[in-house]
Amino acid sequence: MSPNVRAVRGMNDILPGETALWSRLEEELRTWLAAYGYREIRTPILEHTGLFQRAIGEVTDIVEKEMYTFIDELNGESLTLRPEGTAGCVRAVIEHNLLFDGPKRLWYLGPMFRHERPQKGRYRQFHQVGVEALGYPAPELDVELLLMTARLWRRLGIAPHLHLQINTLGGATARARHRAKLIAYLEAHEAELDEDARRRLYTNPLRILDSKNPAMQALIERAPRLMDELDEAARAQFDAVCAALDAAGLAYHVNPRLVRGLDYYNDTVFEWVTDRLGAQGTVCAGGRYDGLIEQLGGRSAPACGFAIGLERLLALLAETGWTGAEPPADAYIVHVGAAAGRVALGLAERLRDAGLRVLLHGAGGSFKAQMKKADASGARFALILGEDEAAAGEVSVKPLRTAGEQLRLTPERAAEMLLAARQSQP
Ligand code: ATP
Ligand code: MG
Repeated sequence: MSPNVRAVRGMNDILPGETALWSRLEEELRTWLAAYGYREIRTPILEHTGLFQRAIGEVTDIVEKEMYTFIDELNGESLTLRPEGTAGCVRAVIEHNLLFDGPKRLWYLGPMFRHERPQKGRYRQFHQVGVEALGYPAPELDVELLLMTARLWRRLGIAPHLHLQINTLGGATARARHRAKLIAYLEAHEAELDEDARRRLYTNPLRILDSKNPAMQALIERAPRLMDELDEAARAQFDAVCAALDAAGLAYHVNPRLVRGLDYYNDTVFEWVTDRLGAQGTVCAGGRYDGLIEQLGGRSAPACGFAIGLERLLALLAETGWTGAEPPADAYIVHVGAAAGRVALGLAERLRDAGLRVLLHGAGGSFKAQMKKADASGARFALILGEDEAAAGEVSVKPLRTAGEQLRLTPERAAEMLLAARQSQP
């Protein structure tokens, strides 16, 4: 095949056999994001190159070697395909003064572009869903981000495969103190530094700790820790995050080497990592970036956020057999006789008001034939309305997937029972 009619290396078609799964995942994501009050923002895929240089930092992997940058020949401007979503989002927030009436919770989803060596879990066009909580100073927001991601893993059934690592980068003065010590340490081991590290030694030594080069890991292990340089405010912020995670019962591992590959972070940084995807195990990454908005020319405002790599998330979901299929109905309403039919309609609506998924038979037929349909529907319970039940204002509840007696209950009690059953087997 001629090279011109092949996709660009590292950029994948998502074919009809896969798009259904993507759509179902996106639907899950939208429901989850709405539950935390996040609203969508869509920004252009192209931005001025300078935006990423200023936001991500000149001496980072992304800006040094991963960006698709070109000159617009019509006017000579340098443009770049976005390698991540935060810079464009913050740019839009400043440009449209979105924080004028208070903090905002925003999310985005779409393709990102990085010129990396393609391999499993690492592509040149990939997709991220990300959130940015802008204008919130409190550590509770950092924790909410973590609880929020944990909830998503539970909803998708992958919680057991993801482990949370957190660290703090402190404030600017702690980073400056640490920087001096780090440079002294690395200078003393100059022979062990690789080419990247040598280049970054005086420009961005913190990035050296982010190196993936196996030969550098022992050196990085022994390097001075930013954690040891924290001032009181940063320590208090980090302690508050850890205490809130403990209170919420969310397990985490403090990894003092976690520094993240972008310059804009301070205080809390985190990654959710899986051991099921080989070397490309980071599925979600984020943290606090209180300085970025001001750095890009906006009025100073604190912020935090994260991004999830959707290809990696889908790869993990494939490992665990997630299909995104609709969960079964909570109840199938079987109704015999005209009076029961009228009651059934009202009962179904009341149960839906309570948050339950309900199928109404609605097609006549004998009790036996209706029970067969109830069973075939996959519903957890049959709710039976005969003439007796209709007259008494009650309903008979028969479990279809578990052993258990048929019970005669009021509609309120039936709703409670169905909700409780859903909690125990989501
Ligand atoms: P890595 O350490 O794997 O290079 P990163 O630190 O560069 O990741 P971020 O910039 O924090 O990644 O992006 C957030 C998430 O986006 C990552 O955790 C990952 O899931 C995903 N991601 C990043 N780069 C790629 C890529 N080239 N292909 C696929 N997914 C990616
Ligand atoms: Mg990277």
